[in-house]
Order: sequence, then C-alpha cells, then structure tokens
Amino acid sequence: MTYYADLTKYEYFPSSVPALNVGWLERPHEFPTGRVSKSKVKKLLAYYDYPVNQTRGFHTRTICRGKDRRSSEFLSGIVGSAEIWVLANDGQVFACPKLIAHYIVDHSYLPPPEFLEAVRNGPRPHTEPYQEILASVNCE
Ligand SMILES: [Zn+2]
Repeated sequence: MTYYADLTKYEYFPSSVPALNVGWLERPHEFPTGRVSKSKVKKLLAYYDYPVNQTRGFHTRTICRGKDRRSSEFLSGIVGSAEIWVLANDGQVFACPKLIAHYIVDHSYLPPPEFLEAVRNGPRPHTEPYQEILASVNCE
C-alpha cells in the first residue's frame, strides 16, 4: 500500500469525484493515535458492504506484523484490496483503504475529526445520496 497523509487529495485511482485520503498508513510514517468509540467503528463497518475500487492485487502492509498481519489479511479479504468511501453531509468524500477499521481497532489509529463526524452523521451507505456518489465512482 502507498502512504498518503490524511486529508491530502485522493489520487490512487483516477476518479471523477474529488476525494480526500484518510487512513493510508505506512511505516515509517507516524500516525495519530487515540480512542474511537465502538458505535463509530460499527457505523464504519456498514460501508464494507459497498467497497470501491476493488482490485485483485496484493498490497504489502508494513504496519502489520506476524499474527496481527494474519488477522489484517483476514479482515481485508486475504486476496485483493478495496477502498471504503465515506460521505459527509457537506458532500465531502473520504477515500480509505479497506484496512482502516483494522488500523483503528488494532493499531489505535485516530482518523481526522471531520472523517469521524462523517462516519457518525453522514449519509448512511445504503441511502440514495451515498449510492449516487458510489455509482459515479464505479463508472470510471
Ligand atoms: Zn495490523
């Protein structure tokens, strides 16, 4: 996986929808740590039913080692990778690697506040505003 600082412009894949990077962690880059509530993690997991930019490629994840690495591979579906896109109420889109929930739960990664706010209060992934954004992304 590639490292991108949080809230930089997303450009991992070409996209017609402007998005910001969140959770693209990689050693040796430091990342903020802290506690994310279980309810937010649960809300974040709802996006996993709608992966974006699913690829079959295998990405090395230098954040994860040993046993932890195996659990992260399990969480990410073992082969391939995908992204989770979160939409804020103001229309801002955040693009995250699928491993972001693992980073939050097992590495105490603390995403930026605007992202957490979007997870808490933004359009739910099964709703129309979210699906419209997703449809335009997957048309690329
Ligand atoms: Zn890990």
